[in-house]
Amino acid sequence: MSQVRVRNVTKRFGNATAVDNITLEFPDRQLTVLVGSSGCGKTTLLRMLAGLEETTAGEIYIGDKEVAHVPAWDRNIAMVFQSYALYPHMSVRKNIAFPLEARRTPRAEIKRRVEETAEILGLTQLLDRLPRQLSGGQMQRVAIGRAIIRRPEVFLMDEPLSNLDAKLRVNMRAELKRLQRDLGVTTVYVTHDQAEAMTMADQLVVMNSGRLLQIGYPEEVYLHPQTTFVAGFIGSPGMNFLPARFDKQQGVLVSDCFTYPLPVELRGQLAGVADQSKLLLGIRPEDIQVELAPLPGTLSATVYISEVLGKETLLTLACGQNRVRAAVGALVRLDIGTPVWMVPSVAGVRIFDAGTEALVASGAC
Ligand code: ATP
Repeated sequence: MSQVRVRNVTKRFGNATAVDNITLEFPDRQLTVLVGSSGCGKTTLLRMLAGLEETTAGEIYIGDKEVAHVPAWDRNIAMVFQSYALYPHMSVRKNIAFPLEARRTPRAEIKRRVEETAEILGLTQLLDRLPRQLSGGQMQRVAIGRAIIRRPEVFLMDEPLSNLDAKLRVNMRAELKRLQRDLGVTTVYVTHDQAEAMTMADQLVVMNSGRLLQIGYPEEVYLHPQTTFVAGFIGSPGMNFLPARFDKQQGVLVSDCFTYPLPVELRGQLAGVADQSKLLLGIRPEDIQVELAPLPGTLSATVYISEVLGKETLLTLACGQNRVRAAVGALVRLDIGTPVWMVPSVAGVRIFDAGTEALVASGAC
């Protein structure tokens, strides 16, 4: 198995920079997820790893070997795409066997490995069917079978679950994570779905506009987002941001609709911030408690809309011009316009510089 590394990798299409000077390690045997909104460069980075796209600059290593100029067929990599790309006229057995047949592997060996792969993926009963006789989930498993039968050094997966319905997607992501763990193959997985990214990743890489914004364990990225983009992108719904200024004398954050006494540990962290007049108070929906009476340190608001989700209720609150989402208990029923008071948990408070969008203070340990 192999560690994969990219060093100062850039890809330009004409004047447009799709991948901008990325340096990154994909640890051996781990599942790294590249996540970001559409057009951020994830697929281009994956295609450069695969050898399907040339780099404009930088180096790519698989194990100790520099591969930037090694053609795709000479890299021991298998790729799974969003479109299953199965051969429609071939049975499941033939589709899975295809990479071994192309390498002229002996017949008995092919038979043994197809059966072993089908067993792993629960496809044994379907080996003689054609792709059109399969469900979307089954087709995706055949595509995965065709990738794993080669026993590659690295798996590359580009949105492999996006054609499946929501429920199947949730099941398949768990299955895929378990399969990756069992096979222990270094895997790079691309998705724009933050929930998929959080649940599947050993290592999470958040990208935007061709750049690497943050890298870490999923829980680390969720708890310690370094920029407003990451804080807004990771988590569902994402973090709320309320424009405010810091009144040093009073030790409070002030906006047009609230005055929030800042816990002392957060005040200290703001000391070095050049412009304390343009800040963003960041707080996740799950870190806001909603009260029906004012308490010290609360922010007043009114209920804008309430959405019942079953396990919880999601409130959208109007706080001046801001809309703030708060996740509260399943049984909370509040009418539109009800006055409420928001209590941010100190550990959940993040403060960002509104200009640079960088984190400047955090209530988390
Ligand atoms: P998506 O999730 O929509 O696939 P992505 O994050 O994978 O998005 P890429 O497909 O890597 O993004 O594209 C990154 C940028 O590079 C986009 O602006 C895209 O338009 C551009 N791009 C990608 N391929 C080409 C190409 N062959 N020629 C010109 N521009 C390209």
